[in-house]
Amino acid sequence: MIKLENIKKSFGELEVLKDVSLNVEKGTVTAIIGPSGSGKTTFLRCINILEQPTDGKITIDEQTIDFSNKVSKKEIISLRSKTGMVFQQHHLFPHLTALENVMEGLVTVQKVKKDVAKKKAIDLLTKVGLEEKINLLPHQLSGGQQQRVGIARALALEPTVILFDEPTSALDPELVQEVLKVMKELAEEGMTMIVVTHEMKFARDVADEVIFMDGGYIVEQGHPKDVLEHPKHARTKQFLQLIQ
Ligand code: ADP
Repeated sequence: MIKLENIKKSFGELEVLKDVSLNVEKGTVTAIIGPSGSGKTTFLRCINILEQPTDGKITIDEQTIDFSNKVSKKEIISLRSKTGMVFQQHHLFPHLTALENVMEGLVTVQKVKKDVAKKKAIDLLTKVGLEEKINLLPHQLSGGQQQRVGIARALALEPTVILFDEPTSALDPELVQEVLKVMKELAEEGMTMIVVTHEMKFARDVADEVIFMDGGYIVEQGHPKDVLEHPKHARTKQFLQLIQ
């Protein structure tokens, strides 16, 4: 359902993604792990074309973009609308309440009527455990609550896949679990998710597939147990030893 074929991305002379291919099945969770600087975030940003790949093909649902050709803005906007993104830092609008933040894309992008968008936003904020916080501004929320608003906002647009870029890495340790819990619940409901993460327990318990990236390539991929407990490649072994 999501097909990434031979994705390459350079920034000037720097080749960050050298040749990355990945298929993601509907309803699965893919965890991307690897050392800092290996290209994980760039890969994720290429999937929703926040960074335009230098080469390669992306297919989501029925739409394919081949980046070896000239790509129109319209194609990019259409493909991007099939993805939701949850960032390391929440990226909420500071002057809007939690409710307004979740409604924003529905009203401005999808042209949904305000009362319909409001009901949907309240339902989603309830789903992430924030029904009592809907009228607060981002700075009145904890980091974990802000991230949960970010998740509700991504869900509101009903994307085919949600991309998470280290969603807990900027949080105080005691706030990490409340965000992981929401992500685990989404996975159990069958949401398709691609998650860049340093949370090895989450990867082991929740992911269907773990991808280990290093130096702009996928070095190893497979079932979490195989990759995390019985890695085949020396670089995977070395990385896992360093972080444990
Ligand atoms: P990871 O997520 O695995 O830590 P990143 O994808 O963030 O890795 O970064 C991979 C490499 O790409 C790093 O060397 C980083 O400095 C470089 N890079 C990322 N984004 C940009 C950019 N916009 N311009 C130039 N270099 C970038």
